[in-house]
Amino acid sequence: MIGHIDIHAVEHCNYHCRDCGHFSPHKTAQVHQAADFIPDLQAVHNWAELAEVCVLGGEPFLHPELRAFLRDIRNAGDWRIRLVTNGFWGEGHPEWVREYKQIVDTLQVCLHGETRLTWPEAQSVFCGAHGADELWDKRQEGSGGWLPLLFSETDLGDRFDPSHPYLCSWRECYALHEGTLYHCAVQAYSEQHLVGRAFWAARNTDGFHVATGTKEQFEQWLGRHSAACHFCRTGYEGHLQE
Ligand code: SF4
Repeated sequence: MIGHIDIHAVEHCNYHCRDCGHFSPHKTAQVHQAADFIPDLQAVHNWAELAEVCVLGGEPFLHPELRAFLRDIRNAGDWRIRLVTNGFWGEGHPEWVREYKQIVDTLQVCLHGETRLTWPEAQSVFCGAHGADELWDKRQEGSGGWLPLLFSETDLGDRFDPSHPYLCSWRECYALHEGTLYHCAVQAYSEQHLVGRAFWAARNTDGFHVATGTKEQFEQWLGRHSAACHFCRTGYEGHLQE
């Protein structure tokens, strides 16, 4: 079973959090359609029983047709749907909490640095009998800063240990981008925006292209490391150096 796969309704965001794990402050505005994801989600579901599709971004409420996007994803499979938002819309449209709760299985609101609401105000807007399932105040956690995206090919070669178990706080945060499945958002950003696919492909650590892959190849890919593990502080520094 695959616990969940992240998909981006949009790539951009109205906030610019310095520890954004989806790198939205560095991306240009881009709106996606549900049809861009559905065939690949269904293929993975057939191979490995996908339990939940997590719709986020960027900020998904910047999608001009978010309701239709969510309904199309829901109608495409028997998976659960989680919607993750920074909740910027809560003051102007508190009724959307109830409305979107009827469209998705889980509504998760993460308050970030640019959120103006105090915690009691946020609780008033987002919680209650028909409130959000999860309300996280990311402002209280402090900022981890940016991932250390400075590395060299030598570093990757010296530190690579393919026999080490895949340990990461991002573990199984699978992310589907442009037809390719990644172990996490860091790997996706690394391949698509930072380094380039040829670099990863030469190391056999790239993402998995769903439409051209087989179930056997998919199962092999699930057990592989990502090259991104070697410079992503989230996993490597905490676990792989032990
Ligand atoms: S609100 Fe979320 S998606 Fe937007 S910049 Fe902050 S962490 Fe990234």
